Amino acid sequence: MLTVRTVAELRDLVRDRRRKGGIIGLVPTMGALHEGHESLILASSKRATCTVVSIFVNPRQFDDASDLAAYPRTEERDAARASAAGADVLFVPDVSEVYPDGFGTEVRVTSPLTGRLEGAHRGTEHFDGVTTVVLKLLNMVAPDVAFFGAKDYQQALVVRRMVADLNLPVEIATRPTVREQDGLALSSRNVRLSAQERRQAVAIPRAIARVVEAFDAGERDAEVLTGRAVSELADAGLTPEYVAIADPADLSPVATVVAPVVLALAVPVGPVRLIDNTTLTPVLSDSPVPTLTGSGRAGGFVPHPSEKG
Ligand code: AMP
Repeated sequence: MLTVRTVAELRDLVRDRRRKGGIIGLVPTMGALHEGHESLILASSKRATCTVVSIFVNPRQFDDASDLAAYPRTEERDAARASAAGADVLFVPDVSEVYPDGFGTEVRVTSPLTGRLEGAHRGTEHFDGVTTVVLKLLNMVAPDVAFFGAKDYQQALVVRRMVADLNLPVEIATRPTVREQDGLALSSRNVRLSAQERRQAVAIPRAIARVVEAFDAGERDAEVLTGRAVSELADAGLTPEYVAIADPADLSPVATVVAPVVLALAVPVGPVRLIDNTTLTPVLSDSPVPTLTGSGRAGGFVPHPSEKG
């Protein structure tokens, strides 16, 4: 695996690989790599002949300066993990390489999608930051396929919207959420939890499980379903920013579940804010299962028997 820090070096390398008939895969990350990232790198290395992993802690998508300052940076460890998972190129640009002096362009998805859930709570500027950097990375690497995690469900939808709207010649592939044994979704931010907060955080997958149980028992009222999650979180001393049941295509609110929906939540735990989601699919629904990939479930919580990813 080669590590490069400039766009010029990156382009030279990728151009060479493409000239040799290679399929280029891109896995954009902010580093502090864990098994969730590794599953994306592995998927890319199976599909592409050259996998580029980018590590860039993008200041433009942080709405909280202390979150940005405390974001873990572990490049050496990340390089070993990326290489072991099958990466061919590690792209680690400086902020000045991505946003040189005079930078003055922003990519904004104007669909109502960006104003919902994360956009409503973090501000739509968060997604402006995401789409700006993702489009830049797509332009820098020009991959055939780019991989995203279903854990950031809304982010993947927003990226797909941008790719469709701007006719970008890239396929967006998603992979299911990778979890700890106790169900907590892996996140680079988990390392900032104290032992006690880490125990509290397990209430998040437990809250999802409560909703799934009620759903499997026939409950279809979104307020009742989300209420199950809220009370499970409250039992652990946690207050969610939101627990929502939404249309899987545009994240508009759903009152009664008659077709597949996404259950999404954001929960502050100690110094961090954790997000998670799963899909709920009525057994007798005539509608197709919603997917981010077009070829499987959107990914979700492991303990639910129908969640296979
Ligand atoms: P991040 O480094 O947090 O920006 O994440 C980089 C990519 O990894 C994004 O596409 C995330 O959705 C994905 N990702 C993060 N956590 C997980 C996880 N637990 N399982 C699968 N993918 C993940």
